[in-house]
Amino acid sequence: MTTDVHIHPAIDAGIKPAAAGFSGGTLTCLCATDPVTVEIGSQVAHNHACGCTKCWKPTGALFAQIAVVSKDKVKVVTNGQKLQVVDPTATIRRHACSGCGVHMYGRIENQQHAFYGLDFVHTELSNEPGWAPPEFAAFVSSIIEAGADPAQMGAVRSHLKEIGLPPYDCLSPGLMDALSTHAAKQAGTLHQAG
Ligand SMILES: [Zn+2]
Ligand SMILES: [Zn+2]
Repeated sequence: MTTDVHIHPAIDAGIKPAAAGFSGGTLTCLCATDPVTVEIGSQVAHNHACGCTKCWKPTGALFAQIAVVSKDKVKVVTNGQKLQVVDPTATIRRHACSGCGVHMYGRIENQQHAFYGLDFVHTELSNEPGWAPPEFAAFVSSIIEAGADPAQMGAVRSHLKEIGLPPYDCLSPGLMDALSTHAAKQAGTLHQAG
């Protein structure tokens, strides 16, 4: 085990399995007073470690941990006035707390997007155990853009494999196929059976 590689605090602590019948919890930002809280009303899907430069990462983490959930299951409960969209032109509009910088949820407003209807959330912001665990690592090469040493990449990829998170330099094959299927349907290249 390469223990000198730190992926993300929640992942380094040991990946825990999902709880049967888990139905969600409350995400709380890191502000000591008047925190933003967001209620998630169901289990999440496609949880993963993400190396991109856009996802919020805890201090010192090489990766973010991010999952998706149906947007109608996401409800801002307290201090929503502190939320600001990080980049209104980005595909995913990440709503961050203006006090502590934590991203509380990311929303896709483009109805033509393959993932429209899904919000992106960081389950580690909740104390409830039982969230679906990360399944893979996405955008691994991008951690170099965030300052990781290129010479460290072999060790990072080996470590991810050891802990059961297959490393990809884009999204996982299943999600990349979903994006391409959506694009092919929109372009008329792929016709529905029958
Ligand atoms: Zn905050
Ligand atoms: Zn990301």
